[in-house]
Amino acid sequence: MKMPEQVRTYCPFCGKHTLHEVERVRRGRPSSLKWIVRQKARKPGRGNKGKFSKVPGGDKPTKKVFLRYKCLECKKKHQREGFRVSKLEMVGR
Ligand SMILES: [Zn+2]
Repeated sequence: MKMPEQVRTYCPFCGKHTLHEVERVRRGRPSSLKWIVRQKARKPGRGNKGKFSKVPGGDKPTKKVFLRYKCLECKKKHQREGFRVSKLEMVGR
């Protein structure tokens, strides 16, 4: 999918449609405070690890991308729910 660098969309701060700069959000590493991470740490080093015994490596064909929209009128950023796409290109005007 090709995404324009600037897009005209609704700004929740201005309450109207304004020109926005689109910026891709990079995903960081998962927090060690997450419940699933603590569950994995609780399992001992040997024996059946239950659902954690599965071999990792199954990768989804598409990744969820998150975009941050920066309003060019009030200079504030807001984010929307991400969507799944195999490839995202930023296209300048
Ligand atoms: Zn705004």
